[in-house]
Amino acid sequence: MKPKQTENLGIEPSAKQTQKMKKDFMMRHPGLDANLRIQEAFDKLKSGNQRFMQGKLSQWNVAERRKELVSGQSPFAMIVDCADSRTTPEFVFDARLGDLFIVRKAGNYLEPGDLGSLEYAAEHLKVPLLVVMGHQSCGAIKAACGSSTAEGNLGAVVKALQPAVQAANKDPEKAALENVKLQIQKIRQESQTIRKLEQEGKLMIVGAYYVLESGEVKFFTES
Ligand SMILES: [Zn+2]
Repeated sequence: MKPKQTENLGIEPSAKQTQKMKKDFMMRHPGLDANLRIQEAFDKLKSGNQRFMQGKLSQWNVAERRKELVSGQSPFAMIVDCADSRTTPEFVFDARLGDLFIVRKAGNYLEPGDLGSLEYAAEHLKVPLLVVMGHQSCGAIKAACGSSTAEGNLGAVVKALQPAVQAANKDPEKAALENVKLQIQKIRQESQTIRKLEQEGKLMIVGAYYVLESGEVKFFTES
């Protein structure tokens, strides 16, 4: 049986007209496509964190997903996170394999190589959202508040965190927040690639603070 033809009464635009309207709209709002990608990525992180807080992680097929990813990756967010084992982003945001591009280090501070990793994801993988996440009871921050020196390579960590410690008057929880702000500033100052993408509206940088007790990630956008 032939499907019934729907009569175009001139009220609804034809497919061609719709296409043209969309094109015109995008021409008038060039940043919209990027805005939608940013908003979508941000919503995914927030809803994933809600599921994590409620202890209701989504189910997905690991073997299938692994196969899907052999030909390439397309993560929707970059996360700069502490190495602390309690802050694992794939859990905290209930994300799957290949969803998040993560740079992790004790005290979530950034060095040139880390910025290079982020630039790769921003420029080549077109990831629209960058989250710098500090957390409650950070051992690295606590150590840096207690002393500006430490034995071995840990010395480099406490040294790198000193600007945040000073800005927070050695209060560890405040220093964790200051550190997030300082790392965001650093990204903007030292990465021309990311700064340009942000200025063009293709990428959004967001600060975040993970609360160990509740599992909540609090986002803040101030620089
Ligand atoms: Zn930490």
